[in-house]
Amino acid sequence: MNTVDIIKKSQDGIALNRKELLYLLDLTPDSEDSYIVMAEARRISKALSGNCAEIHGQFALNISPCTCNCLFCSFAKVNGIFTEDVMLQPEEAVAYARQFERSGVNALYVMVTAHYPAGRFIEISQEVRRDLKPETVMIANVGDQTPEGARRIKDAGYTGVYHALRLREGLETKLDPEKRRESIRNFQEAGLIVGTCVEPVGPEQSNEEIAELIEFTASINPAFSGAARRISIPGTEMAQRGMINELRMAQIVAVTRLGMPTTVMGNCTHEPCTLGAAAGANLFWAELGANPRDVEKRTEEGRGDTAERCRTLFQESGWDVWDGPSRYYSQQP
Ligand code: SF4
Repeated sequence: MNTVDIIKKSQDGIALNRKELLYLLDLTPDSEDSYIVMAEARRISKALSGNCAEIHGQFALNISPCTCNCLFCSFAKVNGIFTEDVMLQPEEAVAYARQFERSGVNALYVMVTAHYPAGRFIEISQEVRRDLKPETVMIANVGDQTPEGARRIKDAGYTGVYHALRLREGLETKLDPEKRRESIRNFQEAGLIVGTCVEPVGPEQSNEEIAELIEFTASINPAFSGAARRISIPGTEMAQRGMINELRMAQIVAVTRLGMPTTVMGNCTHEPCTLGAAAGANLFWAELGANPRDVEKRTEEGRGDTAERCRTLFQESGWDVWDGPSRYYSQQP
């Protein structure tokens, strides 16, 4: 087995198996072969999206110390970053949504922590929906859902959801991995298109774990997959484990692209960076308000990137940016 043979197999439309994904993940990130993999991933993303990347914008409806206690998340109660509940008023949510719409994002994500009241989420979502242009694509980023909950989200005007089975789900989160998978099925059965990602990648995770998750994301035929590194939340136990660098993240983004079927147009990385875009990422997220990787209540004053910044990073990496509603979220579930 070698890199060229694996790329040839991918070009012949044959899904890569676990051993092949592992071979690519095992390459030294700055080796010649790893750059060959990144170039191939870029070629695939460019061909599938016509060299037009997308920028999606996310804002959160609330801040809350969350008892699901995902150790990588700044909302996790155990991390002690946020100790009080804060909920946006409907008019504040509308203002954020309009700000993103004006900035030209291709899809707009509304995020809540896992125990946010479902009825309030639907009501504010409907209000936001009414205030946006009909063609603006709305995506929900919410906790696990029953079939009924998923249908209500669809009926509130959402095109899709972001939902991920995270690395070490159930071990370093208090969530049941099977519930995460079940929710993804519920969303898809309700007619919602699912975007996902291999995340949050830290230096301690094995290539076996990463390859397994790449295979899972491929199995659900998402709007996009991709890879995101874990961002250290200062003062937490996880912060002591460190972070992978952008080059290693770019390598994983590229391998993830090669692990997806060509029905998957999007390949995301977070946080936005030129190395990721050069290695085949054609989706970045801009952020406003609270952000699970930030200790600031308003991430625009912290880690969050604006749509303009994402556009610049893509342009610096040789990408054009799509103007209009997301194409990734226009595929049939
Ligand atoms: S990732 Fe979501 S479910 Fe987990 S602690 Fe953060 S807000 Fe709660």
